[in-house]
Amino acid sequence: MENKKVLLADHLLVGKDLSPLRDGCVIVSGGKVERITTRAALAGENLDAFEVVELGNRTLMPGMIECHNHISLDARLPDHLEMMARCSESELTVIGLKTLRDDLLSGVTTARTLGEKYYIDMVMRDKIQDGSIIGPNLVCAGIGMRSLHGHGYIGSPYTGVEQFRLTARENMRRGAKLLKLFVTPGMLSVDSDSVPCYLSPEEIRTVVSEGERLGLPTAAHCIGGYGVRNCLEQGVTVLEHLYAAGEEELELIQKYGRWVDLTSGIYLDPSREPFLSPQSAEKTRLRREKVRGNLERLVKGGVKFVLGTDAYHTFLYREVEYAVELGADTRTALMGVTSNAALVCGLGDRTGSVSEGYDADIIAVNGNPLETPAALADVAFVMKGGKIYRDPEGTVRIGASQTFQMTIA
Ligand SMILES: [Zn+2]
Repeated sequence: MENKKVLLADHLLVGKDLSPLRDGCVIVSGGKVERITTRAALAGENLDAFEVVELGNRTLMPGMIECHNHISLDARLPDHLEMMARCSESELTVIGLKTLRDDLLSGVTTARTLGEKYYIDMVMRDKIQDGSIIGPNLVCAGIGMRSLHGHGYIGSPYTGVEQFRLTARENMRRGAKLLKLFVTPGMLSVDSDSVPCYLSPEEIRTVVSEGERLGLPTAAHCIGGYGVRNCLEQGVTVLEHLYAAGEEELELIQKYGRWVDLTSGIYLDPSREPFLSPQSAEKTRLRREKVRGNLERLVKGGVKFVLGTDAYHTFLYREVEYAVELGADTRTALMGVTSNAALVCGLGDRTGSVSEGYDADIIAVNGNPLETPAALADVAFVMKGGKIYRDPEGTVRIGASQTFQMTIA
């Protein structure tokens, strides 16, 4: 039985809207947030039975939720996309063990996986749950489904409604919490604004309806064009990326009121270029300002968004910074990796906010992210389900059963 814990800090962001509380105090018991109070209110209480964690001038806040993750893809490695196609199951598993650990220690306590080979995410999810390895809690899509003639190193190819139905059902049999489709190319063309759509309305509808009957959402990789209308009309719940979305697509998304998941860094972050093929790096450079304008239109147009890195592990904070640069207020941007992200993951009633009765998925950062989103880069404390993985001294505590460590060259 784990000790009850008391977390104390000068700043605490409470509830789904991240309301600031000065000198906040969180009492954690049985993996849950039992009570939220203040230092002053706690003054007379006997804390002998508690492990007291003093976080000083830091900000306590909900653990971050990465909404667009691929655990066996690591965008910090050169030619990572080609690796996804080339590597064996065991090589991809080794990559995943490292990215999961890095994600957790960077403050990500939940991640939504949007397509893996070999159902690696499902295996890792179970191993994290039983304590064999460390990582965020995973909300898994399993195999991402793309068309035979369409985009992607990450998805697997299918054609015709029965192939899509079979794969959707196999994903769900293994415990998928969402289904993932790849509808358009990965990137904008350099010489044309038109965006092809590789899946028929019937193929999309088949997957969406298979999910709907089990109460599961469908997410679609969709950068823009006719794919946006196709997805919205067929009931896709979350549109991923939208780099090429114009005025017409914005109006459609507003009309349907669906969520979008922004992964802005793929185009906007020059630090990612060295890890792409020279051709892909050139493509992002040539289209960077066009994409910035498109994403800005969406954010300023008030679409509901969450945020993900698309495998740029430990850099989720940059997506928050980009959302602010694109016109979001800081609180809404932070909700894109906390409470709103939890909602999109189907976990809005148990994580994504420091609230009584919620899972104790809590981090502390140096500085105040409501004032400076970059503070999210400086995570000093990570707790998941009431267990401490990183403490205020920066020490990694990973537990006796999780002692293996590895580096990936
Ligand atoms: Zn992706």
